[in-house]
Amino acid sequence: CFITFEGIDGSGKSTQARLLAEAMRGRGHDVVLTREPGGSPGAEEIRSLVLEGDPDRWSAETEILLFTAARRDHLERTIEPALAAGKLIISDRFADSTRMYQGLSRGDLRALVDQLHRLMIGREPDLTVLIDLDPDTGLSRAKGRQGHEERFEDFGIDLQRRMRAGFLALAEEFPDRFRVIDGNQSLEAVTADVLATVEAALA
Ligand code: C5P
Repeated sequence: CFITFEGIDGSGKSTQARLLAEAMRGRGHDVVLTREPGGSPGAEEIRSLVLEGDPDRWSAETEILLFTAARRDHLERTIEPALAAGKLIISDRFADSTRMYQGLSRGDLRALVDQLHRLMIGREPDLTVLIDLDPDTGLSRAKGRQGHEERFEDFGIDLQRRMRAGFLALAEEFPDRFRVIDGNQSLEAVTADVLATVEAALA
């Protein structure tokens, strides 16, 4: 079973992905916790190429190719083998992040993202947990984080709002696999909602 977490920067999805992985291990599942961009040695190298240094180093189109290349490696080396072995995969971000960030933030490139996805990836998660959060809260959380590498924080609140609206629209586009969780609640309440949602989906 392949579960992904999505949401804007500061939404708490990485924390929730980790807590879900722990909870599912406690229930006897063989869990692989992974992330994007990254999740395999090659994809982690591509992560450094796209997230570090000058944000204008790559054109929007080249950036989509790099994210797709990273995802393909992640899929081949980490996700597919784990699924074949019957493991539970939990990924902090996946293709929906590219549909949003690369698809919407530097012009309307969603069609290109989708074409490349069909050609080179062709897999969707079984379940996508969207941690929905007020954009102002997300931005202040992301900025307060130590060692953060939020490359879009400089774009500020406008981008954060567009991404939030975009993720909610995506949840309506793919209602079968998306579940939206209110990330404005306490950490414990979000964790409980996530667990209940996943258990209902796995049942
Ligand atoms: O999820 P995480 O905090 O590790 O993401 C690191 C940065 O990469 C964030 O600023 C996020 O907005 C950005 N990102 C991106 N395109 C993606 C996934 C993440 O620009 N497809």
